[in-house]
Amino acid sequence: MHDDSEVAVLRLGHRPGRDERMTTHVGLTARALGADRVLLPDNAGQSLDTVADITDRFGGPFDVELTDSPQGIIRNWDGRVVHLTMYGERVQDVEREIRAAHRDDGEPILVVVGAEKVSFDVYEAADWNVGVTNQPHSEVAGLAVFLDRLFEGRELEREWVDADQRVIPMATGKRVEPVDEE
Ligand code: SAM
Repeated sequence: MHDDSEVAVLRLGHRPGRDERMTTHVGLTARALGADRVLLPDNAGQSLDTVADITDRFGGPFDVELTDSPQGIIRNWDGRVVHLTMYGERVQDVEREIRAAHRDDGEPILVVVGAEKVSFDVYEAADWNVGVTNQPHSEVAGLAVFLDRLFEGRELEREWVDADQRVIPMATGKRVEPVDEE
């Protein structure tokens, strides 16, 4: 979040058609749960448009970008790389170390999530390969739990800026109001 060094999310792989919703949801989850930006593969333009549109309407700051070189992003990342994978170390065993790198040492964090099979060089390039359980599930679920552990729940209190509209929380019903900003 904005009070810490950067947290970016990199989506590896995108099968047009089949992965449209998952890639979009990686972006929306990254935004909602405190990351600063998401990098999507360059064939995921539709997902980029959706995430950018949600940010325009519901606020930011949050950046969404396409990259034609996800491996280059990992290789050249000036900080620490966390790869989420069911084969990794248990999140509850490494979360403190990762938080210390991010919060105490000010290291920007790149969180990498896959779509289909992830090549072994990503496992080797990562500073941590992290499992949110060692069971197969979803990149969206893994990302949500990981970000919540990284920020220890502070992301839930975040204020949004430049929003056109905001949801008024209520026990029953749906209320969305326009935001009047000076
Ligand atoms: N079978 C693929 C492989 O071997 O890489 C994984 C495909 S899985 C549907 C898509 C992505 O979800 C993975 O690349 C990983 O980022 C994430 N994922 C799935 N289960 C996970 C877990 N237990 N912990 C963390 N991330 C997970």
